[in-house]
Amino acid sequence: MTSFATGSTPEPSLAPTTNRSIAAIDTGRVADLISQLLVELGEDPSREGLLGTPDRVAAWWSTFLSPGGAAPAACFAESQVSDQLVVVGGMSVWSLCEHHLLPMNLHVTAGYVPEGEVVGLSKFGRIARHFAGRLQVQERFTRQVAEHLAGVIGREDVAVAVRGTHLCMTMRGVRMEDARTTTVHTGGRFWSDPVLNQQFVTLAAARWNAA
Ligand SMILES: [Zn+2]
Repeated sequence: MTSFATGSTPEPSLAPTTNRSIAAIDTGRVADLISQLLVELGEDPSREGLLGTPDRVAAWWSTFLSPGGAAPAACFAESQVSDQLVVVGGMSVWSLCEHHLLPMNLHVTAGYVPEGEVVGLSKFGRIARHFAGRLQVQERFTRQVAEHLAGVIGREDVAVAVRGTHLCMTMRGVRMEDARTTTVHTGGRFWSDPVLNQQFVTLAAARWNAA
């Protein structure tokens, strides 16, 4: 668990932060490379079933790496809800493990304590999807979502818990189908207040157990 610094900075943008801008992806070139890969794997890309595959895979990469950018800030003044724990769960996003290029399914629960304004609920899902749309590791994803959310609310009273199912564990390597990885990132009051921390973890776990 880590705490992090926030300030009264404007809402951080959801612009891509990968090394390469999305606009630079040449889907035609990617399709050519997929075709070459099929050849190297002993396939014939010109056979009927594979004819459209390189283009479909290239189009998928382009979509995956462009999961939606900056959404307008969606915070609403609400002076009556200060000091209430808000937890948003049930957000399921797909990402790609950067070590194996295999999918990982991430169930995200995010919590914060409003102080004079509340965050639009759809914002949480958008943030999760945004940081999932790149080559990832679950630990970094969890931190990025938490830090972004802290930037949105302008304070560090944020907690994010993620339960991941990694195909690199379930379909290769140790092949443990029931393996789940849980990561929790807490800041501010979630870090310093054990009761608040416990409430959040309990609600996150209840959500997962019900799934
Ligand atoms: Zn992996």
